Amino acid sequence: MTTEQAYGAAATGETGEAGPFLVLTDQTLTEPTDEPTARQWLNRLPCMSRPIQVGDVVMINVETGETRPMRCQRNGCPDCIGVNAWRRSLAVRYIEPTHELTVTTTDLHRADLPWPEVQDRLRVLRQAARRDQVALGAFGTYVEQGSANGMTHAHIVVKDGHRIDFDWLRRRLVSAGFAGRFTYARIKSGAEFSSYVGKGFATYAVKGYRTDADDALRLNGGRVGHFSRGFFPDGVRRAEVQSLKALSEATGEHSPWITRIWT
Ligand SMILES: [Zn+2]
Repeated sequence: MTTEQAYGAAATGETGEAGPFLVLTDQTLTEPTDEPTARQWLNRLPCMSRPIQVGDVVMINVETGETRPMRCQRNGCPDCIGVNAWRRSLAVRYIEPTHELTVTTTDLHRADLPWPEVQDRLRVLRQAARRDQVALGAFGTYVEQGSANGMTHAHIVVKDGHRIDFDWLRRRLVSAGFAGRFTYARIKSGAEFSSYVGKGFATYAVKGYRTDADDALRLNGGRVGHFSRGFFPDGVRRAEVQSLKALSEATGEHSPWITRIWT
């Protein structure tokens, strides 16, 4: 049986007894296939079509009675990557970043795996900042490529940023291998937390993972952004949980979903 058949059968839910067995063989999905369009990063079975078995933890909607499997929360899962990206961007907003920096490149057009190169250049930039005693703040970085020209650039959300001497920044960006073109702007503060959702940075950080998650994961080395030390002082998981709680309180909406063991 090919990967395609296993995938299709499990996804349609018409497999009867064979379903759970096929689903457990998900490692076959990571093997190379003849498919020219085989997805490299989004390589897991969608968890929402996984059959529920006795002993599984399930989500139950107490208003509608709807039941679904727990999310696997893997970035490689088509059902979870969008949720992961949304949660991460909510957590980014929650820690109240101060600035947004966009850096560009001239030599990484349509680069297949740009993240390691961007990461190296950012490391060089931050080393220079330490040497020159310039406080850059902590970075949360998302790599994109222009849809028209394929230009690799990075959107960086900055925590605890300051005013920066732009001549210094331009010089150091170029020394690190970036282009001299950049933007650096203060994020407006003072708005209610709930009004942040779906606006500004949160929008474009999530956008890529919703419209073409495989491509967004390719550009970002399989991750939903990269965060330098201190960006999430208490860890990213805690920031995600706290930000969801803050959103729930700000909007007055509480989830009707509860978790139970399926019996
Ligand atoms: Zn999943």
